[in-house]
Amino acid sequence: MSGPVVVIGAGLAGLAAAIHLAAAGRDVTVVEAADGPGGCCGTASAGPYRFDTGPSVLTMPGVIEETLGAAGEDLASWLPLAELDPYYRLAFPDGSHLDVLPGAGRMAAEVTRLSGAREAERYLRFRRQLELLLEAEWTPFVARDFHRLRDLAQVRAAVKLARLGALRRMTGLAEHYLTDWRLIRAHTFQALYVGLDPARAPGIYSIVSTMDTVGGVHIPARGGMHAVPLALADVAAKAGAQLRYGIPAEKVLAGASGVTGVWLADGELLRASSVIVAADLPAAHRGLLPAGAADWRLLRPHFAPSCLVAHFGLDHQLPGQAHHTLHLGPDWTGTFDALTRRGAVQPGPDPSLLITAPSHDPDAAPAGHATLSVLEPTANLLGGHDWAVTTPRLRDRLLARLGRLGYGDLDQAPAELIMDPPRWAARGHGAGTPFGLDHRLSQTAWLRPRRSARRVPGLHFAGAGTAPGIGVPMVLISGRLAARAVLDTAR
Ligand SMILES: Cc1cc2nc3c(=O)[nH]c(=O)nc-3n(C[C@H](O)[C@H](O)[C@H](O)COP(=O)(O)OP(=O)(O)OC[C@H]3O[C@@H](n4cnc5c(N)ncnc54)[C@H](O)[C@@H]3O)c2cc1C
Repeated sequence: MSGPVVVIGAGLAGLAAAIHLAAAGRDVTVVEAADGPGGCCGTASAGPYRFDTGPSVLTMPGVIEETLGAAGEDLASWLPLAELDPYYRLAFPDGSHLDVLPGAGRMAAEVTRLSGAREAERYLRFRRQLELLLEAEWTPFVARDFHRLRDLAQVRAAVKLARLGALRRMTGLAEHYLTDWRLIRAHTFQALYVGLDPARAPGIYSIVSTMDTVGGVHIPARGGMHAVPLALADVAAKAGAQLRYGIPAEKVLAGASGVTGVWLADGELLRASSVIVAADLPAAHRGLLPAGAADWRLLRPHFAPSCLVAHFGLDHQLPGQAHHTLHLGPDWTGTFDALTRRGAVQPGPDPSLLITAPSHDPDAAPAGHATLSVLEPTANLLGGHDWAVTTPRLRDRLLARLGRLGYGDLDQAPAELIMDPPRWAARGHGAGTPFGLDHRLSQTAWLRPRRSARRVPGLHFAGAGTAPGIGVPMVLISGRLAARAVLDTAR
């Protein structure tokens, strides 16, 4: 007879774990410090405007489908999705732009328009290579657990991956096929999603650009990205999980034979034979976990850069604006250098901006109004900046830049909400970065923190701090893998 399971954190990873466990018939309670589900995939409002405070790029929807499917539920009923077209608009500093479009044919035509027919032929060869890389990497290395080198039983799979260029740098891999710097940047900026400089990021992370540019970008048909955790939470509850919000877990308790329960901040003790910690991992190691849970992989953590996100409520609409526009800054190498090579301590000199204008979401703003969210990568808290000074300085620089890019005088916007590194830290993110540990090779795959504590039976981990890593599909997979670790242990 297996005992109760407590999941700490109702972010996407915790919710996925709860669905898999409840569907397998386990007694599961999810405790969440915030007032609702979602974690990073959160929501906020200012006046009549509603903003998604986390992801705006939903890739690999099949992973959500698989998560809901574990409980016998289907994606189309719980979370109808729409495919964006274009997936992105990339605006380059020379005034040109590239729309990243669905389908190889349309995309080749767009590359021909920008860079000529020969480059389009090269693009198609590169695209095929990206597809092969994703195929070779996904099942053996992303969707399954492996924590020791000898678990790389599929040596053949690893060799195949190396042959496909996975051991080159992302930029080197793109340059092997493409000659137009704009296309190279369009397929390498995604390195920053994993906290790295594309000139140094291993080619294995080119799969992030495949997921974006080939696999496609989707959004929920209604309710913005926050509809994702709401649907997952409803499915978890329907499958039998108990979800308790506004209750931080204070301490995971363990005895000689492993986990025994979780103390909650209100003094209640939840007995458990297994616990999945699906909260920010470096932060959890500062007090939430029992002493035996220490993991050498976290002795000297390398944190990703953070971000400043400015959300605006507008009293007008933005005709012709793509859902996602990425304005790539002119100082490409200087920006990555400042953000990553110097330990993520400097705000970039002229960073790329990701603008999200969710015109598809009728609930985000009153009729005739719109919202605009702008993400600027920036330093995390380890740089020692005085954010009381730095945030207003970055905000003013951002508004001036947005004015020059044609977004009008956003100082006059009826609503504004700024998320900066101190606010991310206040939400429990170590080093003030919601992107957690970066994905350098020494924090990748079996070198990322372990799925299960070696010396505390019954203690498991899910979320962006574990393998496979950051991002919506990845943390859903980590939730499934943590649930599997619980189910495979008779406790
Ligand atoms: C601004 C931004 C943009 C992003 N853009 C994208 C994107 O476009 N595409 C993409 O794929 N990914 C994106 N991401 C990353 C993605 O959102 C995250 O990787 C993912 O949501 C992390 O989920 P998680 O479950 O691991 O952790 P979290 O979302 O951090 O969830 C952890 C939960 O644990 C709770 N918790 C912490 N401590 C306790 C405690 N002691 N007791 C109880 N509860 C606790 C927290 O409140 C939180 O709800 C973005 C993230 C941000 C912030």
